[in-house]
Amino acid sequence: MKFDVAVIGGGPAGLSASIFATRAGLKTICFERLAVGGQASLSYDIANYPGYKNISGIELTQKMFKQAQEVGTEFVYENVLTINEIKNGFSVKTNKGSYQAKKLIIASGTVSRKLGLNEEKYIGKGISYCASCDGNFFKGKHVAIVGGGDTAFEYVEYMSRLATKVYLLNRSETFRANSFRVENAKKLKNVKILTNARVAKLIGEDTLTTIEINHNNQKKKLDVQGLFVAIGHEPQLNFLNFELKTKNGYIIVDKHMQTSKINVYACGDIIEKHFKQIITACADGAIAGNSCIEG
Ligand code: NDP
Repeated sequence: MKFDVAVIGGGPAGLSASIFATRAGLKTICFERLAVGGQASLSYDIANYPGYKNISGIELTQKMFKQAQEVGTEFVYENVLTINEIKNGFSVKTNKGSYQAKKLIIASGTVSRKLGLNEEKYIGKGISYCASCDGNFFKGKHVAIVGGGDTAFEYVEYMSRLATKVYLLNRSETFRANSFRVENAKKLKNVKILTNARVAKLIGEDTLTTIEINHNNQKKKLDVQGLFVAIGHEPQLNFLNFELKTKNGYIIVDKHMQTSKINVYACGDIIEKHFKQIITACADGAIAGNSCIEG
């Protein structure tokens, strides 16, 4: 089936792009691999989205999704495998079918950065990238969280209510997280913050039981049943069968969210920009959706 616009990704950027393109009368399809909402839906408390003093990521992104559905965006829950240029547009091949669109909006976000150890062995068996999704499995247990950004500290706060002991392991001396989050974490009795601490080894027969860390250049073992990795995200564009100008893997766009290729727009966390927040992803999406109207 032929569409005017294909939006790749159903996070805040993709949903905003879908709303703007569809409301402008463009036949729009939005592809999402799992569930709509993207990374934002994993945040359990968002306090900086105008209009909502406090709202969970799920609630906020579900509102965006409902709005996109109501204006008439078509949603497809399939994994986008390849996108090729064809005459007058693009073909999007998924694990289930093939679709065509005149214009493309890439809003596919990023994937969780890995530690580079043998994490795959323990995913779902002790290792997680999302505290609000998997935290409950570690009720009454010991866990460690790797990272020093807002995500890591959000996980610390969340897990301190469930686990009996929470270690925060930051590889450097300083934190990227907002200082109020760091100060709050320091006040929590069951939380221990270690700086200059790197995870060196994951240990456990079937499930994770212990981690070996390098703390101030000394090897130590911590008995933890859960390890939450919150060390940022990385772009992934291997589904594109054509080149776009990028910087460190992030797509370069102009003020119209136009990429280096005509009729291909990008928005949200996948683009090269400084301030990555839900509100800025939505703004990018609105611009990308609007740009599809012209030309
Ligand atoms: P960040 O990029 O902010 O932080 C990543 C952290 O992981 C840093 O402490 C970094 O250490 C560390 N790190 C990176 N690579 C490794 C590695 N290989 N081994 C060990 N540590 C590593 O990512 P976040 O996901 O925390 O945040 C992303 C963005 O989302 C930020 O702008 C943040 O403000 C925002 N956010 C907002 C929230 C909200 O408002 N509710 C909630 C969560 C995130 P180093 O500093 O040494 O490089």
